[in-house]
Amino acid sequence: MPPKIELHCHLDGILDPEMARDIRAEDPGFPVDPELLAGAYPVDSFQRFSDWWRFPAALQGDLDRFRPVLKRHLKRLAAEDVIYAELMIGGSEIPVDTSEAIDKLSEVRAWLKPQTAGRIQVEFLACFGRNKPPESLEAKVARNIALYEAGLIAGVALAGPEEGYRVQPHHRTFARYHDAGVPIEIHAGEWCGPESIWDVLRYGFPKRIGHGVSLFADPALVDAVREKGIHIEMCPTSNLKTGSIGRIEEHPIRKAIELGLRFSVNTDDPGPFGNSMESEYALLQNVFGFTEDDLGRVFAHSAAARFRSGLPGTP
Ligand SMILES: [Zn+2]
Repeated sequence: MPPKIELHCHLDGILDPEMARDIRAEDPGFPVDPELLAGAYPVDSFQRFSDWWRFPAALQGDLDRFRPVLKRHLKRLAAEDVIYAELMIGGSEIPVDTSEAIDKLSEVRAWLKPQTAGRIQVEFLACFGRNKPPESLEAKVARNIALYEAGLIAGVALAGPEEGYRVQPHHRTFARYHDAGVPIEIHAGEWCGPESIWDVLRYGFPKRIGHGVSLFADPALVDAVREKGIHIEMCPTSNLKTGSIGRIEEHPIRKAIELGLRFSVNTDDPGPFGNSMESEYALLQNVFGFTEDDLGRVFAHSAAARFRSGLPGTP
């Protein structure tokens, strides 16, 4: 299996019924009931996807509750030859107070080390929602810069509902991250047209854009993204399952390689979508006709777009 790098995956979007059963067998107090969770499938529409999120809600608010999920996820990633993974952690999982946040993330990272056994590098991004008031995102900037400078997060990410929530009101927040050298990822072009990605380019200082499905509708935008060297984190199965695209063949990932863009392939939320890095690679080959050379380019682009450099001996 070729080595893989994943850049776009949400920690609270990993749990699935099989994993929940395994965790419950070890810890009967685990707050997600595997059989109730199993009732949330198939996740094949935006509505079903939204409904799915009430299950990980029982874990939110404390990073420690995700440890059994993370442990099993890393095992799966290692079996798929994933050598580097960035995971987005939600705002509610990071203590508000800076020194508490440093302690919490230091503990989790120290616990992670033996789990990964030097085979896979895991980095965290602090992720927050577009729909939050600008002042609430700005209030987290100093803490997140401190976490970044302590090596505990590798960058920040903006997710959440795209429609009606522009990046412009968060301009000052992103300018502060940018000035401090904190790498920025912003989800855009998943639910809205190219104007949403222009908004990100103007006000968000992104190194990477998540999804970018609508990017291809505007050739000037494609040129701007290519010229700025911005990386696109593509998530084909996610886009199909949530209804961002109608059929998998409509996904623009083939166009991305033809247009010479820099991009990766990612699972986004393997819990509800039932996908894996292996299944995404299989799509690239079987649906989109990627050659070995194309896959090599995906790997090289993913490696170059990591927010923290890799394990010794990796590119
Ligand atoms: Zn995402």
